[in-house]
Amino acid sequence: MRGALIFGVFVFMFGAAASRADSDFKVTLLGTASPTPRTDRFGPSTLVEAGDQKLLFDAGRGVPIRLRQLNIPLGRIDVLFITHYHSDHTSGIPDVWLTGWLSPPYAHRTTPFHVVGPAGAKALMSNLEKAYALDIKIRLEDEKLPPAGIATTVEEFDTDGVVYEKNGVKVIAFAVEHGQAIKPAVGYRIEYGGRSVVISGDTRYDQNVIKYGAGADLLIHEVGSARPELMAASVPVQRIIAHHTTPREVGMVFSQARPRMAVFTHIVLLSNEKFPEPTLDEVVAETRQTYSGPLVVGEDLMSFEIGDAVTVRRYKP
Ligand SMILES: [Zn+2]
Ligand SMILES: [Zn+2]
Repeated sequence: MRGALIFGVFVFMFGAAASRADSDFKVTLLGTASPTPRTDRFGPSTLVEAGDQKLLFDAGRGVPIRLRQLNIPLGRIDVLFITHYHSDHTSGIPDVWLTGWLSPPYAHRTTPFHVVGPAGAKALMSNLEKAYALDIKIRLEDEKLPPAGIATTVEEFDTDGVVYEKNGVKVIAFAVEHGQAIKPAVGYRIEYGGRSVVISGDTRYDQNVIKYGAGADLLIHEVGSARPELMAASVPVQRIIAHHTTPREVGMVFSQARPRMAVFTHIVLLSNEKFPEPTLDEVVAETRQTYSGPLVVGEDLMSFEIGDAVTVRRYKP
């Protein structure tokens, strides 16, 4: 029943948009999972297309495959923004960077790979350059690939504020609370043409997400859930859930920020041999205890066109 409720919103938005001109501000969820290896959900990553720019937020497992499904060459990514350094958010970076440098049309980057992130981005990229030094040397000599295409331009920041501004696109980073030992961790607000998209990053319930997410056209939030019986039985599960936002808490964020459309991504569903993971319907039902506005459970390759309406589209190959 609860599933039907979100689906109703989905159909309505889809129908409402049918006659509108395409907006040039669009978000596509490339990966909506947590570290759990799954075939249906890849690692965390969100693509934001604004005007002629293509911005990637995190690069988890499988990003090149998702971009290929969208027919977007890896080399077309203008900037990669990193939220934090948990490997589920970064393990796709070497793949996007190295594969994106190859000469076929699906790749073909001839200018430096541009990365923006909180402190740690420079070390990550320079260590990747060391780790893949032999591949880079081989391809320079053997395939004569352009040296500029494998170079990196890395910018770090350490406070809330504007971290990128170009051709009418502004990206604002803000700190989030992902856990005592998990610092730095940030979310991003992307502004373009008077509209805004906010990505929570990995976070607990955090006032800063409400502050930067206030009135957003699209608020994309992580969520973490485990059955109460599993929570009671497992300290590691309690620790993981304490690093994330429960459905009830995300509902509180959405209720206060009041976005035009709220979306779940980075869906952490915990289980063990005894207790199965919560269903998505249960996650939505718990969210509905504290939030009654528009809500969509994100899926890989689901897209959102930000215009007069926020149009949700499921992926159709
Ligand atoms: Zn994560
Ligand atoms: Zn994390």
